[in-house]
Order: sequence, then structure tokens, then C-alpha cells
Amino acid sequence: MNKKTIRDVDVRGKRVLVRVDFNVPLKEGTVADDMRIRAALPTIQYLLDHEAAVILMSHLGRPKGKVVSELRMDPVAERLAELLGRPVKKLDDCVGPEVEAAVEAMRPGDVILLENTRFHPEERANDPEFARQLAGLAEIFVNDAFGSAHRAHASTEGVTHYLPAVAGFLMEKELEFLGRATENPEHPYVAILGGAKISDKIGVIENLLTKCDRLLIGGGMANTFFKAMGFEVGDSLVEDEAVETAGALIKQAGGVLVLPVDVVIADAFDNEANTRVVAPNEVTPGWRILDIGPKTVSTFESALGGAKTVVWNGPMGVFEMPNFAQGTFAVARLLAHLDAVTIIGGGDSAAAVRQAGVADKMTHVSTGGGASLEFLEGKVLPGVAVLEDK
Ligand code: ADP
Ligand code: MG
Repeated sequence: MNKKTIRDVDVRGKRVLVRVDFNVPLKEGTVADDMRIRAALPTIQYLLDHEAAVILMSHLGRPKGKVVSELRMDPVAERLAELLGRPVKKLDDCVGPEVEAAVEAMRPGDVILLENTRFHPEERANDPEFARQLAGLAEIFVNDAFGSAHRAHASTEGVTHYLPAVAGFLMEKELEFLGRATENPEHPYVAILGGAKISDKIGVIENLLTKCDRLLIGGGMANTFFKAMGFEVGDSLVEDEAVETAGALIKQAGGVLVLPVDVVIADAFDNEANTRVVAPNEVTPGWRILDIGPKTVSTFESALGGAKTVVWNGPMGVFEMPNFAQGTFAVARLLAHLDAVTIIGGGDSAAAVRQAGVADKMTHVSTGGGASLEFLEGKVLPGVAVLEDK
């Protein structure tokens, strides 16, 4: 990674403004899943150990530029204080005279959490004056919010016009591992793509096709490929407007592309529906494809044989329903047993490997949903581009 990190700057005695991704799920006023808070701890702890005063900022949910009391950061501050074992002072805004006075009074080792940045419409508009006010709170900016790095907002991009800007440890880790999937991966390199829609991921398919030795496709997106091959897929999710693109990708990919050889079909979009395992060209009218079948799992197992790098995005079926999660979980277990660098991108995919109980067997499970997809597309993320080069 050619970006400077917190190791490359002197933070001692300085006020450091850290953009974190504390966009956590809340339930009844408490943090329902603190994974994202935990992911930021190494950076925060490093800064505290090096006698910095730490000012944290994040967005939470979609308040649409207004104060929404349910989306205040208070529950996050509480959870963070527990995890850090030291007080976290939560402020009721992220800019303005009260915030300025509070940061003026900070001493090394103090931690402040600013209010939800998206309470101000200027955040998403990347308003320069708002960014300047945020930047005015500190002497160094650290971006540790990989999950927000694909957005050019005031707290991710704007502030870097006024402060030296470096990466935190989570950002560094994400760039390093996702970079392995896009720059000089060790071969054989196998990409696995799934999920609902092909239209979300055409850029990812095209980019990975130029790099990988095999591309395995499952999930709802395979249906559009089946349609392009002239198969009738009943009531399966199909994107008619992407059939042509799918046909072109089949030609372009040649032998690199591996599609499911059997699928689980159901007579309703329901966990309790009647099911059958059939070939993809034998879908019963009125039924729909909701998972890959066991022969496909074997085919994918062979295709993964000897792989040295594997990147996976997108579940193989409607894994939210237990009866259609088997294909996704089977692929997760295949990856867990490989002697390869395994990288998981995408929000639902990360959830799926966790549900399958094998997240800790993967080399890297990205914390960024949309950001990891844009990275795999080969796009430069605006929040990364503006960090200082080494
Ligand atoms: P990620 O968040 O990992 O990028 P996506 O959001 O693209 O993944 O896809 C996940 C969604 O795809 C899940 O909600 C899952 O139910 C859906 N999905 C997978 N296979 C099918 C299918 N055969 N039919 C309908 N939906 C599917
Ligand atoms: Mg998703």
C-alpha cells in the first residue's frame, strides 16, 4: 500500500480527527452489533498509546440532513467507552462553538465522539466550509472508515483539503487485502460472484475477468446468464435488460466462466415451499431458482482446486431462508478448507460467512459493502485517493 498511515506521522500531543465507520445497527436504543466499533479499536488505541487526543466522527443511518434523535451517537459512545475501558465524551453536534470549546480543552489520552455528521446536509454535499470547520478541530486527519471511502463527503474527502491525511489500521488492512485481489494476485486465481443482480456487478465481472483464471457464478445473477443461453427459468429473478450483456460476457469469458449445473427450485418464495433439484434448463414453469444444487457445489470444488487466491462476492442463493442457504454455506466451507488467500467482499457475503461460522478461516472479510465492490471494480475510491502517498 503506498498510502501513509498513522505510523508515518507524529501524533504525540496532537489533536487527531479520525473518520470511523460507526454506522452500526441499533436496537431499542443500544448497539445491536458492535463489529464496526471493534474494527476501529486498533487505530484508536494506537493513537491513545502515542499520547494523542482523539476526536472521532462518523455518520449513522440516513437522517437526511436533519437531527433525528434516534440516530444520535450516544449508544455508540457508551459501547465504545466499555470496549476502550475509558470515558468517551459524546458531543451533541460535530461543528460549532461548543464543539470547538470542548476540543480546545482536550488533553492527550482524551476521547471525544462527535455527533452524527449526516445531521448536516453539508456532509453529503461535501461543502467546503463545513469540511473546513471539521478540519479546524484538529491537526491531523486519519481515515479509518473504509466502508465510507467510496463516498466523497465532507468527513471523508473534504477535510483532507485542510489537514494532513493518513490511513488508519483498518483502512490499511482493507487496502492491502483487497489490493491482493486486484493487483498481482497469486495464481491460480478464482473469483466467485453471486447475489441478486448482475446489473449491480457488471463492472466487477468485467474487471475480475481480466485478472482471474476461473470465474464461478451463482445466486440470482446466474439466472440472467441462463436466460441469455436460451433457458426458460420460470418465475426466477431475471433482469431482462441485462440479458444481452450476460450473453456478451459469456462470449468474452469463454472457458473461464463456470455456471451452475444444477439448481434448487421452489414453488413459492418461501422457506416452507416445495423444492426440487433440477438442471438449469429444466425449471418448472411457475417455479423459481433459489439456490445452487449439490452437483454445482462439486463442480465449484473442482474449479477451486489448487487455487492460491480466491475472491468471493455475493451469496449463491437466498441464504436468508435456511432451506436455500445450503449452497452459500457449502461454498463458505470450501473456501475455509483451501490453502489460499481468501477475500470476502460485500455486506451480505460477509454476513453469510459469519453465519456459516467460518469467518475466522478467511484471510480477510471486508467491512465495506459498497466500498469493497467499487474496489473490486477497479475504481479509485475518493476517500482513499486523497490520503497522502508514502
Ligand atoms: P453482497 O451484499 O454480498 O454484495 P448482494 O447484495 O449482491 O450481495 O446479494 C445478496 C442478495 O442476493 C441476498 O439478499 C439474497 O437473498 C439474494 N439472492 C441470492 N440468490 C438469489 C436468487 N436465486 N434469487 C433471488 N435472490 C437471490
Ligand atoms: Mg447486499
